[in-house]
Amino acid sequence: MTTTLVRRRYSGLSPSHKSSFFPGDPDLARRLKARIAGEVLFDPFSRGRYATDASIYQIEPLGVVVPRTADDVRRTLEVAHHAGAPVLPRGGGTSQCGQTVGRAVVVDVSKHLDRVLAFDAGARAVTVEPGITLDRLNAFLKPHGLWFPVDISTGDRATLGGMAGNNSCGTRSLRYGTMRDNVHAIEALLPDGQAVRFGEIPWDADLGRLSAPLGPLAEKLFALGAREADEVAARFPALMRRVGGYNIDALVRDAPASGTLRGHNRAAANLAHLLVGSEGTLAFTTALELDLAPLPPHRALGVCHFPTFYKAMASTQHIVRLDPSAVELVDRTMIDLARAIPMFRAAVDQFVRGEPEALLLVEFAGEDRDEQLRGLKRLSELMGDLGLTDSVIEITDAKLQRDVWDVRKAGLNIMMSMKGEGKPVSFIEDCAVRLEDLAEYTDRLTAVFRKHGTTGTWYAHASVGCLHVRPVLNLKSEIEVKKMRAIAEEAFAMVREYKGSHSGEHGDGLVRSEFHQPMFGSRMVGAFAEVKGAFDPEGRMNPGKIVDPPRMDDRTLFRYPPGYATKKFETALDWSEWGGFAPAVEMCNNNGACRKRDGGVMCPSYRATLDEAHVTRGRANALRLALSGQLGRDALLSDDMAEAMKLCVGCKGCRRECPTGVDMARMKIEVLYQRARRLGVPLRDKLIAHLPRYAPVMARMPWLMRLRDRIPGLGMLSERVLGLSARRSLPKFAADPFDLVRDAPVAPVGAQSHDAPIDPAAREVVLWVDTFDTYFEPENARAAVRVLAAAGYRVHLAKPDDGGRPLCCGRTYLAAGMVAEARAEAGRLLAHVVPFAKRGVPIVGLEPSCLLGLRDEIPALFPGDEAKALAGRAKLFEEFLAEEAAAGRLALPLKPLPKRALLHPHCHQKSFGVVSAVERVLRLVPGLRVETIDAGCCGMAGAFGFGADTFDVSMRMARESLLPALAQAGADDIVVADGTSCRHQIADAAGQSAMHVARLLEQSLTENRP
Ligand SMILES: Cc1cc2nc3c(=O)[nH]c(=O)nc-3n(C[C@H](O)[C@H](O)[C@H](O)COP(=O)(O)OP(=O)(O)OC[C@H]3O[C@@H](n4cnc5c(N)ncnc54)[C@H](O)[C@@H]3O)c2cc1C
Ligand code: SF4
Ligand code: SF4
Repeated sequence: MTTTLVRRRYSGLSPSHKSSFFPGDPDLARRLKARIAGEVLFDPFSRGRYATDASIYQIEPLGVVVPRTADDVRRTLEVAHHAGAPVLPRGGGTSQCGQTVGRAVVVDVSKHLDRVLAFDAGARAVTVEPGITLDRLNAFLKPHGLWFPVDISTGDRATLGGMAGNNSCGTRSLRYGTMRDNVHAIEALLPDGQAVRFGEIPWDADLGRLSAPLGPLAEKLFALGAREADEVAARFPALMRRVGGYNIDALVRDAPASGTLRGHNRAAANLAHLLVGSEGTLAFTTALELDLAPLPPHRALGVCHFPTFYKAMASTQHIVRLDPSAVELVDRTMIDLARAIPMFRAAVDQFVRGEPEALLLVEFAGEDRDEQLRGLKRLSELMGDLGLTDSVIEITDAKLQRDVWDVRKAGLNIMMSMKGEGKPVSFIEDCAVRLEDLAEYTDRLTAVFRKHGTTGTWYAHASVGCLHVRPVLNLKSEIEVKKMRAIAEEAFAMVREYKGSHSGEHGDGLVRSEFHQPMFGSRMVGAFAEVKGAFDPEGRMNPGKIVDPPRMDDRTLFRYPPGYATKKFETALDWSEWGGFAPAVEMCNNNGACRKRDGGVMCPSYRATLDEAHVTRGRANALRLALSGQLGRDALLSDDMAEAMKLCVGCKGCRRECPTGVDMARMKIEVLYQRARRLGVPLRDKLIAHLPRYAPVMARMPWLMRLRDRIPGLGMLSERVLGLSARRSLPKFAADPFDLVRDAPVAPVGAQSHDAPIDPAAREVVLWVDTFDTYFEPENARAAVRVLAAAGYRVHLAKPDDGGRPLCCGRTYLAAGMVAEARAEAGRLLAHVVPFAKRGVPIVGLEPSCLLGLRDEIPALFPGDEAKALAGRAKLFEEFLAEEAAAGRLALPLKPLPKRALLHPHCHQKSFGVVSAVERVLRLVPGLRVETIDAGCCGMAGAFGFGADTFDVSMRMARESLLPALAQAGADDIVVADGTSCRHQIADAAGQSAMHVARLLEQSLTENRP
């Protein structure tokens, strides 16, 4: 095929929505594979995963390259150059305007190109590869008292390359400016692969002496800057928050500074500033030289209360004169949303007084603590002058300051978690106007929303006149799309009236580039095209962004284009909360929070692999495309889908930490069920799933299972035949499993009937002992019985009404997608415990994944009141005790234990917010110092760690954070882990033993029996 032909084939923005994604161009894939060491992903699933970003758009890429080195990037550009194929650089893919989607070879630098290349603390300078995230860079800098101060809210997953690409800006831009103000130089590759360092060039330099390709390029650009100086002065809004178009003002000598331009050298042009904000349309960044700032040691926060939103907006211009580092808006809707979340209510009560219509969070930061306190005082005086005496809550406590910022972020998350077809849509959400126009502008825009029958919640960067607002629209509807366009046109016309900026933070992409014409005028748009032509004459770098854009409301480019529909089918679980399985999947808006690599749990498989395929977002995208038929027939049941789901450990991290509550653990059960129904269940999965049924028999010959670990060769055999890793020890059946009769509590004697009336004097509790604790670690159950009895509870052991084998929740069946069997198991449990629950008796369990399933999967298996009643009463052992202690009802005789307890919480304990309950219960032990390990998933996750094909990833997960933390444990420390899998992993991988909290309490009882 000739280059011309290929070029014609690849040109333009072809609509993404054919009936399905076809395999990518095999010839291009082959040529790339021959040249690079990294991954070349041209299969439909991979291309589907890279067809979206956090915008409303979807475009099928030609293919994906994940380069291992900068040299791989160069080779990719060379291959694409010869093939005439467009190229699209990509970091975290968190762009909101569609700048990271396109019919191109997408090159994802976030996996491998994330190193710090050079660092000079004295010069406050660092050089990094483009794929490093902001938070990782700042973690590196922190010990040196430095930071990179463009503090965007996606810092945990946004890359420096992407931040430069979009000219990102953070909460404290008032002080530190935008990316442009903080990038010193950029090393980049031109579209044909030639390397250039873009940095300062003195205005009076002899450009002819610079070597090619920089010299001739600089000559063109300097000439363009000189020619367009007047146009830039006339057309560029005099605002820091102007990120639209190319930064042509960087080419204009003595152009008025639009940002803070920290350390700006007026004697030189900085060509890196032209690349900043160019959205991957000019060159491919391979390294960034950044200017750093000292970390301010002292911060003080004033929370200003306003009786009206208008007053808050009108006051901002006065407040910024006090030299704060941030002024952020939180409106009434957000306050109410935050108040509705139990975990934030206490903090909100501390910093919100009464019922204000808006808050401005005003931060002062710097070296001198007294100076920051004086800032607060001046703020109170100013508010008094504005007629708002006694309206500032002053916060100097660092923890409460953090809580305030967390609440602001959480409000946004709640807003984004709106269920149903209408969603807050990002398209005018970062217009910026002068502060003196802010009140009138927000007032008028609110009226525009009203006129179109919608609303928007306002928040964010009041200090720089850049407020976020997302009108709620259903973009699956043609009428609502028309509304979006009308709102955009009216909003931008208004912004033009105010000489404001239509693109003030998130970039241009597909949603805004079209409006450069009315906002900047034809001459400036022509100049943008000239810049593009100088760098990329063939127009192959991220086409359709900034120059030559399509219409922003071209629905064929939407994630939900005309004709988008999902297949209806019978589901195993109840998805009515979301309006069905597909709407639950569509909750993923691609914001990429699941790509964070530190803190919390979500998403262990991503942290271990750094693959887009193995992050919650990648799975949600694969599911959405499959359900809507875009990955071909029966894609939901395909091996590719099974592969995409395989590394999901069902940790439920996403259920809690995903801002929109995407619950992939539950979705995986549904997918496994659908697959099992059609294709059956693999032998290994069946073997593990049926554990509750064969455990009573196996328990009579515990030696049998141990043979596999003892007789040489049996491990390998079980690996080959059953797929159980030979490198993993199997759980050991106890010689003396928990026995519901023999191990029943002796005193006080429980009335073993659910019909018995509650005795108000002796509080009742049902203890349900799961399969794992019954057969593998009965000592936990016995400890729980003793502790509960010692505290004076009447303990009923949950027993099957039919007198058969012990009760089980069906978790092992759910994990294999064997939903009918799970329902049968759980049905037996429900039959016995629901009557107790209906009487208000707590149902207590020990194993987090089993007990918390009663609040999660079981109600989804049994929609109706019975399961709901149980869910309301099901409590983990530690939750029950913590609640009893808080109510002053717990009398547990415990002796001192002067040791340190290192707590590793189970992922489901984190997901259900019950970690603090374990901590509180452990603190009941006098003298025990409790420290919670800040680690993600242990990697064992039920049967996951036993799989021969998942063992390595399981160990990588453990090595991510748990094992390093455990390595710090002293010989005297007690490791506490309530999850049976966690304890197994800790024993296998760290060689340490961990115990359930029940056992630790039992050992601390003053009258402990052996
Ligand atoms: C919930 C949410 C909150 C956000 N908050 C903020 C905020 O507070 N402030 C803010 O400014 N933005 C914000 N954003 C937008 C976005 O997160 C930022 O623009 C971020 O910097 C993008 O980083 P990324 O790594 O995801 O880049 P990507 O989205 O992957 O890429 C961004 C652009 O840079 C280009 N690019 C990437 N790598 C390179 C490279 N190596 N060479 C050349 N070009 C490259 C891409 O082609 C693309 O045009 C938010 C987004 C979301 C979803
Ligand atoms: S799964 Fe959740 S966190 Fe991840 S991209 Fe989707 S919405 Fe964001
Ligand atoms: S359940 Fe855990 S592993 Fe699975 S997608 Fe969610 S966070 Fe990732």
